[in-house]
Amino acid sequence: MRTVEEKSAHPDSADCPETVEKMSDYLENELDSGTKSRLETHFSNCPLCMKVLQTLKKTIEIFRRKEPEDVPPDLDAGLRKKLKTEL
Ligand SMILES: [Zn+2]
Repeated sequence: MRTVEEKSAHPDSADCPETVEKMSDYLENELDSGTKSRLETHFSNCPLCMKVLQTLKKTIEIFRRKEPEDVPPDLDAGLRKKLKTEL
């Protein structure tokens, strides 16, 4: 069965929503060591969550520095354009 194949190919996919939810806490170091190591295990098994983590980490670093020159100008413009289109 196709379903079984997919399940074995992504053994940790069921943990993805929880992992994504706890990601910002993980980056802020607000998790207990048990949860933290569970997340780290998931990251090493799940390229998708690893990618999301790296993107989030980068975003947080940019906002933390609060230096306008570190924010890509086209990101801001693109975001504003997107918002304008959607509103
Ligand atoms: Zn995942």
